[in-house]
Amino acid sequence: MSTKRQININDIGKATDQFRHLDPSTLMKIEGYDDNVWTPLKADVKERYAAILDDTSILPIPRPKTKEEEEALVNKFIDGMRKSFTKENNWTFLAMLETSMEHCAKCNTCSEACHLYEASGEDAMYRPNFRSEIFRRIYKKYVKKEPFAKWRHGDIDLNWRTVARLGELAYRCNLCRRCAQTCPIGVDNALLAREIRKIFSQEMGIQCPELHEKGSMLQLKTGSSTQMTAEVVKDNMEFIDQDFSEEFGYEFHTPWDVEGADILLIHNAGEIMAWPENIAAFHMIFKAAGLSWTLSSDITAYDSINYGTFYDDVQFARTAILHASAAQKLGVKKIILAECGHAHKALTVIADRVLPVPLKIPRESCFPLLRDIVLSGKIKFDPTRNNFPVTLHDPCNVTRLMGIIKPQRDIMKALCPQFREMTPHGVHNYCCGGGSGYAIMHRNNILDWRMFIAGRKKLDQILNAFSDCRGPEHQKYVCAPCSNCKGQMRDMIGHYELMEKESMAYGGIVELIVNAMVDVKPGFIKWEE
Ligand code: SF4
Ligand code: SF4
Repeated sequence: MSTKRQININDIGKATDQFRHLDPSTLMKIEGYDDNVWTPLKADVKERYAAILDDTSILPIPRPKTKEEEEALVNKFIDGMRKSFTKENNWTFLAMLETSMEHCAKCNTCSEACHLYEASGEDAMYRPNFRSEIFRRIYKKYVKKEPFAKWRHGDIDLNWRTVARLGELAYRCNLCRRCAQTCPIGVDNALLAREIRKIFSQEMGIQCPELHEKGSMLQLKTGSSTQMTAEVVKDNMEFIDQDFSEEFGYEFHTPWDVEGADILLIHNAGEIMAWPENIAAFHMIFKAAGLSWTLSSDITAYDSINYGTFYDDVQFARTAILHASAAQKLGVKKIILAECGHAHKALTVIADRVLPVPLKIPRESCFPLLRDIVLSGKIKFDPTRNNFPVTLHDPCNVTRLMGIIKPQRDIMKALCPQFREMTPHGVHNYCCGGGSGYAIMHRNNILDWRMFIAGRKKLDQILNAFSDCRGPEHQKYVCAPCSNCKGQMRDMIGHYELMEKESMAYGGIVELIVNAMVDVKPGFIKWEE
């Protein structure tokens, strides 16, 4: 029998009910948090979908019922793969895709970098290169048709199970790119995972409902994946303005559609519903700093979400163009992205490959701006208001992808007397486990997978960062300045009862800034639910 560390890649197409079973007792150990019990997948899910990889199902691939349907699944995938390697069809990532396909040395250095592999107790199925290698072998043998491919690169049996399991494996990756950073050659396994997701979405019409129907489609139709229209968003903002102005004795009004403003600020609209204090904090800081800024009520422009980033170039481009068009229409000098990591990646990095020149309005992260405000002396702070243990989670898309590391730390050092780093941090950080869209997924037993495996390393890091102040008697704060990361933190804190056991609160960086503002009544950060 193969062990967790030894799996034959070619077994991926084997006619078995399920490729691997996960044994919770062999996951990475965290003292006091090892009591994990999997919720079994429901029988109707297994019947309807090709849930044949492990003990969960993220990508709803319809289970083929006939020989013809099995063949169609394979053929569509191969056609899609063929298209992915042409200039006309892969205008975003072809060069990087080819590099990652051709130059892997199969050294598996990347395995040690991956939190999923480590947290799973080193299950070879979750090695970054396991998925990539299946993709590569299919490409070399069936698309590129290299002579002697099976001897030169290793063999692979291509059947519907291979395709279905590969599609599912593309959703066993947070797209955090920690493995890419470690690879001595620069192979990007996250890029390959996304390319597989892309083939499933663009060529086969198979997507995660949270990202597609309830995400991109809803956003393009209503203006926001929260389904809030411009009128509803404005109403909600008015309520936030009044509520927080009253409670904290600091009056502010959110400006809308101000032509010629310096800054168009774009929030992740999920904040408005889940974390209104983050929205209020931004607006209070911007007012106190005397900035010229606005929000836009144009479709999608009040919601920085761009879930195409995780699975589909077409949906990505549609949303990015709408975001940039709103800025162009208002004639603002630049777009500032609020605390949302994937929105940073979408609009500041990938959008460069998509936006036509007239739409290339400067797009920046909020973190350097916030640091400049805090250190400018324009606002009076009392750091003793933040005198509790604080640690900082680095959102992968802000730190590893964009290299924005120091601004957040400058703020922490100025305003949080008990700030402590996680180990490791900065560009070497670990994903929270909610990356690549997981943070919004609760279907089936996905939450178990997110808690037991995807978020496990981050849980360990957080507990270690607070090793000197464990227990409910010490209030502590995990600063996770990204909407997706906060979604994952909220679920982890709830699942592991960290509020009860550890008095652990979480939130963004702007909340810490406002909590220390002398002109604002104390108590902006709250520990009660
Ligand atoms: S992706 Fe890089 S680190 Fe991983 S096996 Fe290939 S060459 Fe080695
Ligand atoms: S991108 Fe992150 S989650 Fe995905 S394989 Fe690499 S290290 Fe693991």
